[in-house]
Amino acid sequence: MDLYKLLERFFCDNLIYLAHLCRERHIIYGKKSVILPTITNRRMKTNEKYIINEMFEKADVDAARLLIEGSQHIVISAHQLPDGDAIGSCLGLASYLRAKGKEVTVIEPNPFPSFLSWMEGASNILIYDHQKQNADEAIAQADLIFYLDLNTSNRMLELGSVLDAKQVHKIVIDHHRNPEIACDILFSYPQASSTCELVLRFIHALGDDNLISKGCAECLCAGMMTDTGAFQYNSNSPEFFILLAMLLSKGADKDLIYRRVFHCYNKSRYILLGRIFNDKIEYIDELHTAIFTLSKEEMRDAGYVMGDVEGFVNLPLEIKDMKLSISLREDLDKSPLVHVSIRSVDDIPANEMASRFFNGGGHLNAAGGRLECTLEEASIIAHKACQAYADMLKSSTDPTTPIDPLVP
Ligand code: 5GP
Ligand code: MN
Repeated sequence: MDLYKLLERFFCDNLIYLAHLCRERHIIYGKKSVILPTITNRRMKTNEKYIINEMFEKADVDAARLLIEGSQHIVISAHQLPDGDAIGSCLGLASYLRAKGKEVTVIEPNPFPSFLSWMEGASNILIYDHQKQNADEAIAQADLIFYLDLNTSNRMLELGSVLDAKQVHKIVIDHHRNPEIACDILFSYPQASSTCELVLRFIHALGDDNLISKGCAECLCAGMMTDTGAFQYNSNSPEFFILLAMLLSKGADKDLIYRRVFHCYNKSRYILLGRIFNDKIEYIDELHTAIFTLSKEEMRDAGYVMGDVEGFVNLPLEIKDMKLSISLREDLDKSPLVHVSIRSVDDIPANEMASRFFNGGGHLNAAGGRLECTLEEASIIAHKACQAYADMLKSSTDPTTPIDPLVP
């Protein structure tokens, strides 16, 4: 290629690049009119802004912008037994709103596991169970309340009724089905991987990517990671990874977050795990089902600390052909109270089972609920629940079939 051609090529590439940056796909080069392909050269790939399709209604985003602009004292809360998505979304949103100059208080109904305490702002979270007075003061002062990662305030214990009673503007951002919270603006998107994904989309839709700090990005990344089992499920959309890439570009270290969240358990977890799989788990082979119970005595004997049993209910599904796993765990303080977690594969509706038998709900393949009875009684109810779905459970399973936990 001679020098002239080389120069011409360089000029053309840069023209195309500039046109692309200006989102102009139709350019005139010489006498030719050129329609640009989406990505035309390597330089564009590295410089191209992330393209994220708007998921939200523009009117909702505009209304939320007005509410935020008009408020100064904002309270953010999520569901009881807060997980990585609940804490990550609250703290990520709090970081963003503080960057906008707002005074923000994050209040959770009860304590969260220590493996989430590294998140920026975690030490300032008020736990309603323990810090009622401070929390009530913040709620009294609030001119805007965000409910995150929940569809009903029943899942907030006492905090739910306190927030519901407060006459103030309210915004819900959530990915559970059937939202029931009274609010001014509802961002309910069950197809989203996590509430953290939605909070990131929310900030992006408001045009405030530049206000996402490293700390904010870490919180949001953690929730997207935990609600997808570290990207194992419910994270097939290419946009999920574009959003994740955006967080990495803000300085979130995905590998470090993984270690902080998934590799910092206590020894007591493994004592309990051994106990369950050695002699507690019950396999109903013809139904491809596993049920296990955990009593408060067993947890105390193992030196249980909060978070120890996180994800246990998923493990039986790692066994070939297993389709349904039910965990029944006694509450440590309240009696009689049994926490129920359900995991399923394919189209076995864990959420329907949870609402029919366990006063709960959730997603197609991951749901939960609670029973006010003894563990023995809970186990009988769990067996009945399995029998009710026997036809679906009996057929053999094909582990290669892709699953989408959020399909209704
Ligand atoms: P987990 O078993 O991890 O506690 O909950 C699994 C899924 O079910 C989560 O997405 C959680 O939000 C949902 N879930 C758990 N308990 C309840 C409940 O009582 N009601 C509803 N609607 N969803 C629940
Ligand atoms: Mn969530």
